[in-house]
Amino acid sequence: MSVKQSPLKAISTAALFMASVLGFSTSATAVTFQGKFEQGALVRGTVPAGSKVLLNGQAIKVTPTGQFAIGFDRDAAAEQVVKVTYPDGLTEIKPLNIAPKQYKIDRITGISKKIMKPDPVAQARAAKDAKQTRAARDIFSEQQAFMQSFIWPVTGRISGVYGSQRVYNDVPGNPHYGVDVARPTGTEVVAPADGVITLAEPDMFYSGGTVIIDHGYGVSSTFLHLSKLYLNVGDKVAQGDKVAEIGATGRVTGPHLDWRLNWFQMRLDPVSIVPPMEKVLAAQKVAK
Ligand SMILES: [Zn+2]
Repeated sequence: MSVKQSPLKAISTAALFMASVLGFSTSATAVTFQGKFEQGALVRGTVPAGSKVLLNGQAIKVTPTGQFAIGFDRDAAAEQVVKVTYPDGLTEIKPLNIAPKQYKIDRITGISKKIMKPDPVAQARAAKDAKQTRAARDIFSEQQAFMQSFIWPVTGRISGVYGSQRVYNDVPGNPHYGVDVARPTGTEVVAPADGVITLAEPDMFYSGGTVIIDHGYGVSSTFLHLSKLYLNVGDKVAQGDKVAEIGATGRVTGPHLDWRLNWFQMRLDPVSIVPPMEKVLAAQKVAK
């Protein structure tokens, strides 16, 4: 049996050949990513210096050497697209397929949940805290620490995961957006990557002792429920520097670190940028 190429196929093959001759999407110019394309993930990318990057049509800030960060929130849509315009004017369209994540959902039925509305003074305090946190996460700095290999700010048993949610009598509560590591009050918390302290508050209404570290290009770490803060706003930190101590401050039931990862206001899963905790704990055991 002979296979005849359709005229249409012949044309598209010719077009592809021309494109490769002209330099579209060659390996020398292509965008590369580190990270998983899944809900809750922070993904770092690299393009040739001077390239422009759009995510779903929105301009993304790129470092002078061609690095950038993008994030996909808890319920991110499956189909997204990155468009890169290289310094020579050629463009590349990269369709992304964002994998859905299974979140831990606890359905609690048959009991009436007491509506614990905080008093007006507390409500006003919480609103002020939220505004201050939002402003710290809006900060754009040109630090490139966001490209580093992040480390866990503290190691131990994970007692709370990103995206989990309680549903009371079919009414969903706010999802949990951090990763909780249970360790006693006083355990030292270190910087997961280099950065600058953009918020250091010893007593916020919900989150208690709270610290935000800006890692550049919109990527930040937030630590909640701290008992002791070592640094002030404006202080620089290097990866591994002691930042604070674990506590049980704010609205919590026990001491733990709640670590949050943000890309500007988008809440991401810190687990997406660190090695699995089991591996880190196993390596610590071997080292002892
Ligand atoms: Zn938590």
